[in-house]
Amino acid sequence: MTDFDTQALIGAIRGAIRTDEPVYLHAPLFEGRENEYVKDCIDTGWVSTAGAYVTKFEDMLAERCGAAHAVAVVNGTAALHMALLLAGVGPGDEVLVPAMTFVASANAISHCGAVPHFVESAPDTLGIDAAKLRVYLAQMSSEDRARIKAIVPVHVFGFIGDMEGLAALAEEFGLVIVEDAAEALGSTYKGKAPGHFGAMAALSFNGNKIITTGGGGAILTQDPDLAARARHLTVTAKQPHPYEFIHDEVGYNYRMPNINAALGCAQMEKLDGFIDDKRALYERYMSAFGDVSDVEIIAPPEGCLSNYWLNAMRLDKGAPRDDILEALGNAGLHCRPIWRLMHRLPMYEACPRMDLSVAEDLEARIINLPSSVVLGRDL
Ligand SMILES: *Cc1c(COP(=O)(O)O)cnc(C)c1O
Repeated sequence: MTDFDTQALIGAIRGAIRTDEPVYLHAPLFEGRENEYVKDCIDTGWVSTAGAYVTKFEDMLAERCGAAHAVAVVNGTAALHMALLLAGVGPGDEVLVPAMTFVASANAISHCGAVPHFVESAPDTLGIDAAKLRVYLAQMSSEDRARIKAIVPVHVFGFIGDMEGLAALAEEFGLVIVEDAAEALGSTYKGKAPGHFGAMAALSFNGNKIITTGGGGAILTQDPDLAARARHLTVTAKQPHPYEFIHDEVGYNYRMPNINAALGCAQMEKLDGFIDDKRALYERYMSAFGDVSDVEIIAPPEGCLSNYWLNAMRLDKGAPRDDILEALGNAGLHCRPIWRLMHRLPMYEACPRMDLSVAEDLEARIINLPSSVVLGRDL
């Protein structure tokens, strides 16, 4: 397809974002009490790994997601790593994870000494294709299957889909579910937030996520024992004591600093407004793309109320993705392709995997569009 109408595409994007200025893919927005809370940390000296904002941020997250417990950590990768360790993942184990994800999902598995085992994505949910995975697991030898301990569904771009299919599969094959919900704070599926579809869920508050703490992450869980273990292990496994340094196992320095949590508290106060603006932007893209041929905006799956973190378009088969990306960049529109699939990265080439033809097709066709909160507002 050499006759792709790039000008029509650029026109549609410009129509949706309603500005002719250059725009980023996703810029953070600080217009609440961020300054006040961060200044409070500096003024009081409570900038580091203790302080009231961390607990307050955890309470806000837990309440927002209807989770019994939230444990704030230094980033989303650390949250995933910790959750997988607590799920019992260790050397020699395999963990099922989509090939179509950000590299952190696979890295966290490697950090446990385990091996990522790449699975197929579904074209409508962009998450794991549970039906295909079931067929794949069923035809595996029992020795091969015995190595597989856990499964990491990824809520891509804020989409959550077919969690029933996944739960049934996990039950049938005895797998622990650890959700990679890094992109899905504020999303629900059939009324439930991340943290309700697995033993634990990992969130991220990196600078490009729907809310940011600079760098940060959190583990959500309903299980008090897992939460207690996470709290202990993320602060170097230190026993509470007025002055002695007693550590009872090899722990991690993963606790979120107070100054980051202060930023997070201010951002959480704005989350609902961010989601409203992002939904408005998504709807503008939907109507602006109505007349553009050879491309469609990807809609959230059935049952999902998305946070609309990143808008994405799917090009028709054969469209010149890289030429389009280049043209968009030249037009001042910061867009990006979906991630290069994990099994095509050098360190993960030799990992076990199932047929990934849908993921490979999506990889060639998905481009993310500028999605900052401000773009959804009436200027
Ligand atoms: C951002 C992200 C992570 C990792 O979060 P960090 O805070 O950057 O470590 C993991 N998985 C997915 C799908 C992400 O988008």
